[in-house]
Amino acid sequence: MYGQRMERARARMHELGIDALLVSVGADLPYLTGYEAMPLERLTMLVVPRDEIATLIVPRLEAPRVEEQPDAFRIFPWEETEDPVAIAAAFAGPAVRAAIGDQTWARFVLDLQAAMPSTTFVSASHVTGPLRVQKDHQEIAALRAAAHAVDAVALEMAQRPFAGRRERDVARDFSHLIHEFGHERTNFAIVASGPNGASPHHEPGDRVIEPGDVVVCDFGGTMRGYCSDITRMYVVGHTTQAFAEMFDVLAEAQARAVDAVAPGIACEEIDLVARRIISDAGYGEYFIHRTGHGIGLEAHEEPYLVAGNDTKLEVGNVFSVEPGIYLPGWYGARIEDIVVCTADGPESLNLAPHHAYIVG
Ligand code: ZN
Ligand code: ZN
Ligand code: ZN
Repeated sequence: MYGQRMERARARMHELGIDALLVSVGADLPYLTGYEAMPLERLTMLVVPRDEIATLIVPRLEAPRVEEQPDAFRIFPWEETEDPVAIAAAFAGPAVRAAIGDQTWARFVLDLQAAMPSTTFVSASHVTGPLRVQKDHQEIAALRAAAHAVDAVALEMAQRPFAGRRERDVARDFSHLIHEFGHERTNFAIVASGPNGASPHHEPGDRVIEPGDVVVCDFGGTMRGYCSDITRMYVVGHTTQAFAEMFDVLAEAQARAVDAVAPGIACEEIDLVARRIISDAGYGEYFIHRTGHGIGLEAHEEPYLVAGNDTKLEVGNVFSVEPGIYLPGWYGARIEDIVVCTADGPESLNLAPHHAYIVG
């Protein structure tokens, strides 16, 4: 699998005339090697010369954590007394053009530039971006497993009391369950009750949730290296006709936007489908963000479903579809699923029902 990804990366390097690919911390490294480097002051760097075997340069003390992938790369542990930048430059060879990982620490980029004075550096996302945006079977399987785990969290939370508890306490329940249901880490748990729901990325705080509150819950984590991200609505006890009517519009917008997913459809078109339904119902000015973002090794990545992005969807794209309506002073609502673009159209990875969950 990593060997195949490395081959695709090399093909891109040939296309772009790049002699060496240099990847440090960030998601490109686990994508190509299965190894996630800690963001340390000691350099970890995968060096991929276009036509020679790749080498993963790691500090000696980190080397035991690396699982070797002989079809993809060899490991070169460096000692505390060595200069890892000189080692990386030596493995890169006489590169005229090198692509360097977008999240590489500036101090290493500067040192590499000094060590490779005749090399032009470009951003590695030119090489890896088009590969990572088209998920392979293993990646889709991992994203599906993560999505099912947060589906289970959403349903478990529908059994728990909200009333009389602070947002931060409910958020802690979400975080615990995300772990308990198989994620290696929780990335975020937004619990936005009542008027706080009108702020899409509200930080859960001390507000005590009351009967009648509408609560936006948006949460996710990382499982087998891949991210989950889901939003469901919880209503404490009962709600108003006004909320029910608004929520119906939102659910319709989300469902139609998912239905519109197909290879060859522009990203902005999916956004437009959701936006048109919300605007036609009179809530247009309250839908204040893009419809979705790609997801994979990172929680937010390409493709972005936003007006102005005329990139066409391709088989293997995975992204959120998450329209929302935010009424300042009242409440907000959002429904979010992770969706795969397949040859036959959309596959929603999240299967937890969309209706607002009534909680105590
Ligand atoms: Zn968000
Ligand atoms: Zn979300
Ligand atoms: Zn999202």
